[in-house]
Amino acid sequence: MSTPTESRVGILERSATRALLAPTASATEAVAWAVERFGEDLCLLCSGQDAVLVDVALGVDPRIEVVFIDTGFHFDETINTMLAIAERYEPRMRVVAPWRHLPGTGREDFCCSQHKVEQLDAALAPRRAWLSGLRRADSPERAQAPIVEVDRRGKHKVNPLVAWTDREVREYEKANDIIVNPLRDRGYPSIGCKPCTSPVAEGEHPRAGRWAGSERTECGLHL
Ligand code: SF4
Repeated sequence: MSTPTESRVGILERSATRALLAPTASATEAVAWAVERFGEDLCLLCSGQDAVLVDVALGVDPRIEVVFIDTGFHFDETINTMLAIAERYEPRMRVVAPWRHLPGTGREDFCCSQHKVEQLDAALAPRRAWLSGLRRADSPERAQAPIVEVDRRGKHKVNPLVAWTDREVREYEKANDIIVNPLRDRGYPSIGCKPCTSPVAEGEHPRAGRWAGSERTECGLHL
């Protein structure tokens, strides 16, 4: 029979297990953890590149709000991908957009700040946590990304796909007939705004086409 002290330790250990997300948690475990912990205060950021995260997350809880940032500079293919996602999954969807669109080329810091980062700030303002499709395989800058972190706003950011390789993503897409932005098969493995995204050559890093020719590697959404 356990002593009162041992019982307290057991309770604390069980609480800790519920409170913390294991670094090795699967994508569905990560989403389930976030849903249990944050409930209605959780949303999901979708970039219109593919529907993998949407499929995984809404498979756990179809009530999760899907946020799309309409910068005003997207490819038509990206908008059409989001429309297809909306039609297939019928999610609670929130589109955020700046009140005006100013040309971005040459002023990327300002442009990303106004058209992306401030919009995400607004979308997350009423929420405590968000799901992101960030993966360690995306780029060297993301190689150490954790499965869950607290962002600069103090919001929990959960990255359910963080450990997925490119191959695992492709396999999931194939097995689940996932909606994918058609640009990806035309040399755009990473798709951002039209003025700042170029196709990459065979063997180039997938994000080499983002702000090609500049030092810029991130728009700021994940910083
Ligand atoms: S990616 Fe380019 S066009 Fe899009 S918000 Fe950033 S600077 Fe502007």
